[in-house]
Amino acid sequence: MSDDCIFCSIVDGDIPSYTVYEDDEVMAFLDANPLARGHTLVIPKAHHERVNDLPADRSTALFDAVHDLTGRVEAAADAAATTIAVNNGTAAGQEVPHVHVHIVPRSEADGGRPIHALIEDRPDVDDDELDDVAAAIRGD
Ligand code: AMP
Ligand code: ZN
Repeated sequence: MSDDCIFCSIVDGDIPSYTVYEDDEVMAFLDANPLARGHTLVIPKAHHERVNDLPADRSTALFDAVHDLTGRVEAAADAAATTIAVNNGTAAGQEVPHVHVHIVPRSEADGGRPIHALIEDRPDVDDDELDDVAAAIRGD
């Protein structure tokens, strides 16, 4: 629990929300400024800022809930698809510093763009650089 966190206040019932799912570890509610009808946020009840701050069991609970809710959000919004996304850190545009997974209903006609539209100025990487970064991620 963090004293000045909006999402902790929602978990505690101090700020109202349109809750769509709740269990011991996880809560999901409608986004207050939705990108589409049915835009849902899924959060761990415990305060952690980023996905990589979550203990493994909470991460599992969070993403299990995302898995369970995605089809329900699509059905309720009569959506053909969803974009599932996390702004993971302020440099990535995260505004509320409590992990949350966006489930955004999508349709061919919504005028939205794919994840690949996030960054227009893309790096031009060669095979050596791909080798290097793959090794760094593996921890070689
Ligand atoms: P992000 O930029 O990923 O941190 O997104 C934060 C999201 O939280 C935005 O989509 C906001 O519309 C949403 N949001 C902020 N306050 C509330 C609230 N009280 N209830 C529901 N959603 C909220
Ligand atoms: Zn919080």
